[in-house]
Amino acid sequence: MVHIYQLRRDIVHVCQRMYQRGYVAANDGNVSARVSDDRILITPSGMSKGFVREDQLIICDMDGKVISGNLNPSSELPMHLMVYRERPDVNAVVHAHPVVATGFAVAGIPLAQCVLPEVVLTVGAVPVAEYGTPSTEEVPESIKKYIQNYDAFLLANHGALTVGPDVITAYHRMETIEHFAQITLVARQLGRVNVLSDEQVQKLMQVREKLGIKGRNPLSCQGCTASCPNRIASEPRASSGEGAASEDDVVGRIVSQVLARLGK
Ligand SMILES: [Zn+2]
Repeated sequence: MVHIYQLRRDIVHVCQRMYQRGYVAANDGNVSARVSDDRILITPSGMSKGFVREDQLIICDMDGKVISGNLNPSSELPMHLMVYRERPDVNAVVHAHPVVATGFAVAGIPLAQCVLPEVVLTVGAVPVAEYGTPSTEEVPESIKKYIQNYDAFLLANHGALTVGPDVITAYHRMETIEHFAQITLVARQLGRVNVLSDEQVQKLMQVREKLGIKGRNPLSCQGCTASCPNRIASEPRASSGEGAASEDDVVGRIVSQVLARLGK
C-alpha cells in the first residue's frame, strides 16, 4: 500500500490538474484512493478541486462512515465505495465533467470504436452508464453493470468516471478519454471516422501482450466490425456512429428502390 501522505499529495495534485484543464466547474468532481482494506481517502463536498488541500481530505470506512476529517465527504461517496467493493484491483477513482467526454455522455454516444491505437491499448471501450440522480444510490447502481468489464465510463447527462490501480493512472485515464472524445468529435465534424480493421486490432492485441499492459477491457470496440469481441450491447441505435449512418443508407436505398418500382 502507498503511504497515506503520498496518497494525499497525489489526490491534491490530480484535483489541481483537473481544475486547470477545465474538467470541473465550481465544486464539481471528486477523487478518492484506497488507503487500506477498510479505509479510503476522499475529497470533501462543496469545495473547488482547484483549492482543496491535503489536510482537508476525509478518511471513511467502507460503510461510508467518516473516520477523520472536519468536512463532509463528497456526495458521490456511494459511487466510490461501490467501485472499491466490486473491484479489489482498483485503488483510485476519479470523477469529473470534462466538456467533450461529457458531451458524448449527454448525447448517449459511447467512446467505443477502435480508432486510436493508444486508446485501444490502454482504456479500451468507454460505455455510457444510464442516468442516475447525482449523490443517490442510482449512480452506483447504473455503473455496477459495467464495472467488471471497463476502467472508464461516461455517466449519461452527468460526466465521466475512471478507475485504476493508483491515483495517477486513474487520472491519466480521464485525460485519455477526454482527448479521445475531442479527436472523435473533430473526426465526426470532418465527416469520416475510419476505424481500425480486425487485423490491425489483432496486431495491437499482440503488442499489448508483449508490453504487459494491464486493463479491463483493452480491445473492445463497437461499431467497428461485427466480429469485434466486445461490442457494447447497450448503446442506443441512434448513437452508433458510422453504423447508424450506414443503416440509414440502407433504408434510403430501399425507399428509393420502392419508389422507383412504384414509378415515382
Ligand atoms: Zn459529477
